[in-house]
Amino acid sequence: MSVAQLLAELGEIPHTTERALVRQKSRDFFWYSPVLKRQLDKVEAKAVITPRTEAELMATLAACARNRVKVTPRGAGTGNYGQAMPLQGGVVLELAALNRPVWYRPGVARVEAGMKLIALDEGATEAVGGEMRVHPSTRRTATIGGFIGGGSSGIGSITWGMNREPGNILGLRVLTMEETPRVLELRGADIQKVNHAYGTNGIITEVEIPLAPAQDWVDAILGFPDLMAAARFADAFAREDGLTKKLASVLAPGILQTWFRGHAERLAAHEAAGLVMLAAPFLEYLAPLAQKFGGRVAHQEPTRDAEVPLYEFTWNHTTLQALKTDRSITYLQTLFAAPDHLAAVSRMAEKFGDEVPMHLEFVRLAGEVCCFGLQLVRFTTEARLAEIIAVHEAEGCPIFNPHAFTLEEGGMKTVDKDQLLFKHQADPLGLLNPGKMLGYDNPGWTAPAPGTPLFR
Ligand SMILES: Cc1cc2nc3c(=O)[nH]c(=O)nc-3n(C[C@H](O)[C@H](O)[C@H](O)COP(=O)(O)OP(=O)(O)OC[C@H]3O[C@@H](n4cnc5c(N)ncnc54)[C@H](O)[C@@H]3O)c2cc1C
Repeated sequence: MSVAQLLAELGEIPHTTERALVRQKSRDFFWYSPVLKRQLDKVEAKAVITPRTEAELMATLAACARNRVKVTPRGAGTGNYGQAMPLQGGVVLELAALNRPVWYRPGVARVEAGMKLIALDEGATEAVGGEMRVHPSTRRTATIGGFIGGGSSGIGSITWGMNREPGNILGLRVLTMEETPRVLELRGADIQKVNHAYGTNGIITEVEIPLAPAQDWVDAILGFPDLMAAARFADAFAREDGLTKKLASVLAPGILQTWFRGHAERLAAHEAAGLVMLAAPFLEYLAPLAQKFGGRVAHQEPTRDAEVPLYEFTWNHTTLQALKTDRSITYLQTLFAAPDHLAAVSRMAEKFGDEVPMHLEFVRLAGEVCCFGLQLVRFTTEARLAEIIAVHEAEGCPIFNPHAFTLEEGGMKTVDKDQLLFKHQADPLGLLNPGKMLGYDNPGWTAPAPGTPLFR
């Protein structure tokens, strides 16, 4: 492997070896996890390459293959399990300059993979009155290629499910990692070969996604007498199919009051919070529904007028808001599966109390309403964290471990044979994001216990 020789072959293609910049772009939000912080803090590439066009990208991949240099793709580096971190050195391939629209048509957009999600939404709204069906809470910073490579679901999943649901991604243009890279167009079921594969088996250069009609969204904060009243409200809200909605989050009493700057005073100390995004024409239905569960609307404003949009207090941003003032906080990612999700939430809240403050995101998963827990954890030791995870698993609440950096230990829970087979075809030299796909690095690996895969 010769990075120096590779860089000499790049010509005009932008790249840097400046230490501070390379170190910065070798990191993501891995430090959310005290376990990953300990394991990955020293990870660093030798250079960052930033191709501006697909032709430059192709030349870069060819040069990396010739020189046997390992390559870690990166969008904006907002992943939170070290997905975009170069575990085995080599170079970081930054895709953020591939950021142009290809076309917008009614109900569909095709854009380059490095486009920021907010730019995609703005472009789609202006061109065809559409917006992304689902975006992560990092909408203002993340790229669409990174969302598909490393993300899974988010704001909009209450209506449209996860990225994995057939139809939520329509097409991916992918370059292979070879001395003569090939261009592949994946459509239909083939999309899952690269979707949520952490950039281990191909570089996405273009993404085609369906659009929902753009809406005037309203952010609302609701107060409820206790956690389960808020959870029952969010469950009912998710099932109101006549309401156009994008978000229903639930927070145990104290989370908003302690950690949400600008919102802390909106609820009484004992109140649990419901955070919702609802399209403006349906607002009159909100207060009566909340009242059925003893709740009240404490605050509402158009999303576009908010100094910080409400979605930046939800999904993985809830943890970030807490971490801003309390570095001892970490988190879980739990599936509370239908149909017993509310009973499971109640059981776990009872069991762990204030050690694991409850945070829920309501979604449709394979057509059924249920919720993910992105609970906060007051971290003490790695052993205690492992114990908390084990208790959830034993109680039938699978954890998609955010304290592990491989695909299999996170959401997959097992080796995805299609993704593995595709890696052998698209990355025959094994240079793409090494260390992240256990099934490739350690072919004998099997899951310690059969788990519920997040991605079927
Ligand atoms: C505060 C916070 C909130 C978050 N909220 C959510 C959320 O609501 N939902 C959610 O799903 N995630 C969430 N995330 C995780 C992350 O922000 C999103 O998944 C985001 O979309 C990642 O985009 P990115 O451009 O930053 O990708 P990166 O972090 O740069 O990359 C993510 C992965 O994709 C790979 N990759 C990047 N670009 C490409 C490409 N063109 N081709 C192939 N592989 C590629 C990388 O190698 C890496 O493995 C959150 C993270 C934080 C820190």
